Amino acid sequence: MPTAPATPATHPSPSADHQLQFLRDFQRILEQGSFSSTYKFALLHALADLAVRHGDGSGVPLTLTTRDIAQRIIELYWPQAAPFPLTGSRPALVLRQNAGQGQAEILRHLDAAKRHHGPSLERLRRDLPGWGLLLGNVDAVVRKMPLWRLQTVGAELVDFLYENAGRGTTITLRPRAAACLTALHGILTALVRDAWLRFVRRSNLAALDEAADLDAFLFGSPRASLERHRPLLQELQSNQCFYCQRRLVTAADVDHFVPWARYAVDLGHNFVLAHPACNRSKSEHLAAERHLAAWVARNHRYRDQLAASFDNAGVLHDLDASLRVAAWAYDHVQHTRGQVWLAGGRFERLSPAWRSILVA
Ligand SMILES: [Zn+2]
Repeated sequence: MPTAPATPATHPSPSADHQLQFLRDFQRILEQGSFSSTYKFALLHALADLAVRHGDGSGVPLTLTTRDIAQRIIELYWPQAAPFPLTGSRPALVLRQNAGQGQAEILRHLDAAKRHHGPSLERLRRDLPGWGLLLGNVDAVVRKMPLWRLQTVGAELVDFLYENAGRGTTITLRPRAAACLTALHGILTALVRDAWLRFVRRSNLAALDEAADLDAFLFGSPRASLERHRPLLQELQSNQCFYCQRRLVTAADVDHFVPWARYAVDLGHNFVLAHPACNRSKSEHLAAERHLAAWVARNHRYRDQLAASFDNAGVLHDLDASLRVAAWAYDHVQHTRGQVWLAGGRFERLSPAWRSILVA
């Protein structure tokens, strides 16, 4: 009698065919789902971001709490809830994020929080009751609305992302879905942002000029909030550029080590201080292995000091998550046989040795 095959301990990574099918399902939701507000875009973006942050891309099912999802959705909406500057003498205006009357409920909660705590999300995070209130309110909306309706197209359930089991406080991403969200993160978030932007433009037609730069406003890096990292980084780096080690004489840029364009989250460990020229030439590239090794070493060496400082400043931080995001970004460059930035206009091919730097 043949013996039954042993249950595999791990789930295999999704094949190219599976990834293509996933992409088709994802596009189907975007193109054929009903969108009365931008919540579903925010949810899809958040799921892709959280899969990178918390998953390992191995194809293992990934459980996320609705609170984690709500937190990421707040981060996505926070800059969007600021008034958008209009041309001429018209006053700036908070853009509508729903198709019906009035403003979408999540935006109303964010507006209330901004009125009470000011425009800084970091400052709000330091106020635990205020932060808890906003998080609870947004969590409630996420559970009520987009989470259990996201995967419905017409009368059909297309639940390829997670099982629509009920209205609990967690969801478990299907094994293949978590891995596909990770592998295809760049494409998926670009699709979501494009659809989100078009929705906002449509919903604010009367106010917006054709030329209004909505992309930078909705999805650009909030530069102002980077400034709070400067004093600590200056101290840790002895006022030297992270990349070339030369002295920082006048100006210095707070740089995203894993570029914002690749993964748009302000996790504290991701910041380094660099010459504006070094920052510009690195641009949207990943830094070479020698820089990666220096970044990993810094984050381990000053682990406690960094954590205390981030907490103090209300900056979101999770070293393991930052390392997973970096591993994901370098893995992507290796798969696409991309180059990494060394210095000035010099690049080199990424060698597989990067992996041992990140897991050391
Ligand atoms: Zn430099």
